[in-house]
Amino acid sequence: MGFNIAIDGPAGAGKSTIAKRVARELGLIYVDTGAMYRAMALACLKKGVDVTDEKAVEDAVEKIVVSISYKDGEQQILLDQENVTGLIRAEEVGNTASRTSAYPAVRAKLLSLQQELARRADVIMDGRDIGTCVLPDAPLKIYLTASVETRGMRRYQELTEKGVPCDFREICRDIQERDARDMNRDIAPLRQDADAVLVDSSEMTIQEVTDTITALAEERRQSWK
Ligand code: C5P
Repeated sequence: MGFNIAIDGPAGAGKSTIAKRVARELGLIYVDTGAMYRAMALACLKKGVDVTDEKAVEDAVEKIVVSISYKDGEQQILLDQENVTGLIRAEEVGNTASRTSAYPAVRAKLLSLQQELARRADVIMDGRDIGTCVLPDAPLKIYLTASVETRGMRRYQELTEKGVPCDFREICRDIQERDARDMNRDIAPLRQDADAVLVDSSEMTIQEVTDTITALAEERRQSWK
């Protein structure tokens, strides 16, 4: 195993923004596992599968191949060879992913792909179960969180800047529902692992969070091996 960093935390905590910056600082490969779950959800939406029906989801994902590649340093996500990177960011896909990701068949399909990526290179991987399930021996685990209001406001600003009409209270409600689904599922629920470092970004800038995690990683890398 290489020098791997696991970052877990709830939706909208800023995991991908931070992980990309830390990856650049430390020369690691960034792996966004949420994108893989989103690709699975997109496949179900495209096929019109009832996502409350576990068996139907299981059948739909059985033959799907999710893979990743890198273009100009950015992770691309492929669904049966089709590049779906631009399609998976929709709110509907994220909300659907938090339902389909609760099914063991969906998780089993992605676990080996994620572990294989971490075996081949030094990665910083973000998701919900990276420290607890995917990379339990990672030399650095971070649990990155922020209050619901902070996460809701960040999302609200992001959508407003893109000109997407949205409602702050509705965004906060969606975030709370997604947190509840991710934290209360039977398999690989989101939780802070015993040896993960808690970083609450509610009152921190992106640069402060990046610096905190980079410093921790440099320290751990010295004593690793
Ligand atoms: O992080 P992102 O919002 O892209 O993740 C979408 C959904 O995928 C999450 O709400 C969660 O249900 C699921 N997920 C997961 N395990 C991971 C990463 C994401 O269950 N490691």
